[in-house]
Amino acid sequence: MSTQMMYSIIIPMYNEEAVIQETYRRLKKVMGSVDGPYELIFVNDGSKDQCAEIIKDYSCWDETVKLIDFSRNFGHQIAITAGMDYALGEAVIVIDADLQDPPELILSMTEKWKEGYDVVYAKRVKRNGETLFKKLSASMFYRVLRASTEINIPVDTGDFRLMDKKVIRQMKLLPEKNRFVRGLVSWVGFRQTAIEYERDERLAGETKYPLKRMIKLSLDGIMSFSYKPLKLAGYTGITLSAMGFIYLLYVLYLALFTEATSKGWPSLIGIMLIFDGFVLIMLGVLGEYIGRIYDETKGRPLYIVNELHGIQDDRNSTRQELTTKV
Ligand code: UDP
Ligand code: MG
Repeated sequence: MSTQMMYSIIIPMYNEEAVIQETYRRLKKVMGSVDGPYELIFVNDGSKDQCAEIIKDYSCWDETVKLIDFSRNFGHQIAITAGMDYALGEAVIVIDADLQDPPELILSMTEKWKEGYDVVYAKRVKRNGETLFKKLSASMFYRVLRASTEINIPVDTGDFRLMDKKVIRQMKLLPEKNRFVRGLVSWVGFRQTAIEYERDERLAGETKYPLKRMIKLSLDGIMSFSYKPLKLAGYTGITLSAMGFIYLLYVLYLALFTEATSKGWPSLIGIMLIFDGFVLIMLGVLGEYIGRIYDETKGRPLYIVNELHGIQDDRNSTRQELTTKV
């Protein structure tokens, strides 16, 4: 191993032409002051704007700039995964393209890494300029996730983090499709630590995580790391049945020992609704898991690369050996 440590920065981007030049400039400035060579791996996740062209242009005269251009939009988590597959550095850093994660923090991350930590994640102590709804839903999500999984996934932590080469090596071996990258990183283990920061406002453009995508990400996080939703259905079922049984005893008592006339229809219908609702919920939960099993068994590649810039085609990627070569 060379004495000089190489750093890989992974920047997933989807329609980020409004910010990408500034992101590049800020990253160059920060990486200019680290103690080794580095590469900036931009992953174009099927953008409809010109951001890939801008990066392609940069890659012609700046050899630190690499571009993985997807054939279509595969999603943020898959884009990060592709970056990891192609990264060559001893330390790999994932950062958002919109400058919500301050690049300057990379320097503190590399310091922690040199102290011997294998994963240094950035914990948001404050989120600036995001809607109350986003803050609340994000906060709730991290706490539900924490309560429902056995592994220790840190709260209020996004994908902005540094990972040692050995973590990346393990990540490359994980084939699952519904990926929740930060959960997988926790699952992989090794020595992990946090640094805290305030999350800034998006520099320009708008969030690519509308409610629908946030729900998908939450489901990936919870369903991939927990069987609790399945168990929950069972527990609820037992509780509801017990309640129904007790209620039935009460109705019997009324009929046998009191003068009360039967006025039971409304409550019967109420009970039926509870039970029918419960059965539907349970079917939904089962469906979610079965859908995931289906996804995993199809064996499709995680992503398809349209073209690579600044990256040799034979750059060794474990995942590419498993998947189609285009
Ligand atoms: N992103 C991506 N593919 C997508 C959606 C988002 O590569 O399908 C990128 C996006 O360009 C950004 C990062 O993922 O660099 C985080 O997205 P965003 O800032 O929209 O999420 P938020 O910060 O609002 O949660
Ligand atoms: Mg953002």
